[in-house]
Amino acid sequence: MRLTRYFLPVLKENPAEAQIVSHRLMLRAGMIKQQAAGIYSWLPLGFKVLKRIEQIVHEEQIRAGHIPLLMPTLQPADLWRESGRYDDYGQEMLRIKDRHDRDMLFGPTNEEMITDIFRSHVNSYKDLPMTLYHIQWKFRDEVRPRFGVMRGREFLMKDGYNFDLTKEDALHAYNRHMVSYLRTYERMGLTAIPMRADSGPIGGDDTHEFLVLAETGESEVFYDARVPDLKLGDREVDYDDRDAVKAICDEFTTLYARTDETHDEAIYAEVPEEHRKVGRGIEVGQIFYFGTKYSESMGATVVTPDGSRVPVEMGSHGIGVSRLLGALIEANHDDKGIIWPEGVTPFDVGLVNLKQGDEGTDAACDALYKALGKAGLDTLYDDRNDRAGAKFATMDLIGLPWRITVGPRGLANGVVELTSRRSGESVEMTAQAAVEKLVEIYAAHK
Ligand code: ATP
Ligand code: MG
Repeated sequence: MRLTRYFLPVLKENPAEAQIVSHRLMLRAGMIKQQAAGIYSWLPLGFKVLKRIEQIVHEEQIRAGHIPLLMPTLQPADLWRESGRYDDYGQEMLRIKDRHDRDMLFGPTNEEMITDIFRSHVNSYKDLPMTLYHIQWKFRDEVRPRFGVMRGREFLMKDGYNFDLTKEDALHAYNRHMVSYLRTYERMGLTAIPMRADSGPIGGDDTHEFLVLAETGESEVFYDARVPDLKLGDREVDYDDRDAVKAICDEFTTLYARTDETHDEAIYAEVPEEHRKVGRGIEVGQIFYFGTKYSESMGATVVTPDGSRVPVEMGSHGIGVSRLLGALIEANHDDKGIIWPEGVTPFDVGLVNLKQGDEGTDAACDALYKALGKAGLDTLYDDRNDRAGAKFATMDLIGLPWRITVGPRGLANGVVELTSRRSGESVEMTAQAAVEKLVEIYAAHK
């Protein structure tokens, strides 16, 4: 993409309304525009990152054997009357009437609707296990929408629902979700710690929240300092192997890690003192096992092998897709701007022409731009007629992990400069070597 043909409305000034760095940087980098409290347009750069995050979430869910579908944003109130949550949910639910005076709502979550789909079409244990999920906009009329996309009213969530015959099967589904979530966050370059949590209005017994450590996080967290170092790395996971999946969950949940809601001083005191840590975290996901809470009230039953009928065992599992942009920036920035991890960056590389209008430099940039595209690298080419300093400032602000700088002086020696946004280090090499180096770097993230 040539910057002169793109829409990147960066802001020079710090927007007064932004209290935390991710919100400030998203506004300054021209990623989002607020349309009403907690409601945002996703401008091209923000939209690109959102889509990349969505794509990683999809790939990891499909890898775990979960099935995508799409439910609507608007739901009939009657479904929620069946589960009893229409009255319980309170003011966070945006209630709407259609022209026939029917009660509707903008879905804050989808347990009722997915249970309705299930009971309409599934009848037998033979169709189980089954996990359905979607990535869809939600609306919660938060009392205090704030921090940009971090606590919006309209936000994008991945929500998945498992249906199983037995509690044991449903707990395997829970574990499968935990591992698939760990993989998802890790691919984005994020460390999200599973912490035992409180079940809240969804109800149920087992639940973990996934928290990204950040000073601006809304939750206070207590954890063993060794937990953030746990990594899945590149180990292969067989999601059908219950013991293997459970072993990974145990590895990630045995050491102490809890939010203030579930914090227990007595257990915490057993953590060796030098490992005890208190910090703040951003909730980027949550998994629940809740058994037959919805299937019982809504009549979602299956025939068992011995011919009897039982309510199906369920759980629900959410990832805050749009919130993740905020969490990623909170975890990856410096005073010049964002530093995207390679897995989610809006463009793979920024190309800076130091002397726009100079025939030789323009030709070298055009050739390099083509070569990068051919190598499968998504490139943002700053072809504006502007000072080098302004071009660098824009690249640093929007945070592309790699920059190639092309100028007459380097070209005279047959080299361009490849710069890492994270380390700030620059290395001179031929244009071809720069392309090859980037192909190698990104191969590890595809
Ligand atoms: P919170 O405690 O932050 O209000 P929640 O526990 O009510 O969130 P869940 O029902 O668990 O949220 O939703 C799944 C995920 O959706 C959360 O882990 C979070 O990442 C995201 N999420 C929830 N509310 C919002 C919101 N208002 N804006 C953006 N993302 C949100
Ligand atoms: Mg939650």
